[in-house]
Amino acid sequence: MARRYAAIRERIARAARRAGRDADAVRVVAVTKYVGVDGVAAALAAGLRDFGENRVQDARPKVERFGREARWHFIGQLQTNKVRYLKDLYFLVHSVDRPRLAEALSNAAPPGRPQAVLLQVNVGREPQKGGVAPEELFDLLRFAAGLPGIRVEGLMAIPPAVADPEAARPYFRMLRELAERAREASGLPLPELSMGMSGDFEVAVEEGATIVRIGRALFVDP
Ligand SMILES: *Cc1c(COP(=O)(O)O)cnc(C)c1O
Repeated sequence: MARRYAAIRERIARAARRAGRDADAVRVVAVTKYVGVDGVAAALAAGLRDFGENRVQDARPKVERFGREARWHFIGQLQTNKVRYLKDLYFLVHSVDRPRLAEALSNAAPPGRPQAVLLQVNVGREPQKGGVAPEELFDLLRFAAGLPGIRVEGLMAIPPAVADPEAARPYFRMLRELAERAREASGLPLPELSMGMSGDFEVAVEEGATIVRIGRALFVDP
């Protein structure tokens, strides 16, 4: 695990250098949906501190066991009626894609402690995927920014699955450009861009990712 993580950090460092970026500005979220509590323990021992889960129920034993040592990221599609199970255990919710969900998260947050969120954009317009349509992002941002119980930190996307990571580049670029326009329109800093997974994270880093979400390359690949 430590070796795999070191190899991933090295690939991120090289991609950042190619783009003239600082590799320390890229956070690795270890996606633990493939492993149980032992996998999380191994990743913690290897120095990882950020963990991502896409199902509330599967995440629960891990979040309860390692809640204090780790920062948990919720990265999956979220039903409004499941929001209460998140409690205030998550550092960042990546997948806000509609006003009702933003409102439910805002209502569930403890007073004075807004939930940090990203707005997910469906950059490939894939019907089976979550995310707001690109042209609806600005309305969603305006609405979400007005809610007292959430704080919008940036954008997230899951581009269409492609064999060649280069084919994902236009989608990463689209997300970066949407974030630039959203900053101008809203005046918010929106510093975070969550994009890039095991197959394409180097291209995402070249295009400005500040968070990459990596599962298979850490936990599954030989
Ligand atoms: C599973 C998952 C990942 C990790 O994908 P890998 O290809 O295993 O690195 C990233 N983001 C989301 C939203 C996921 O569901």
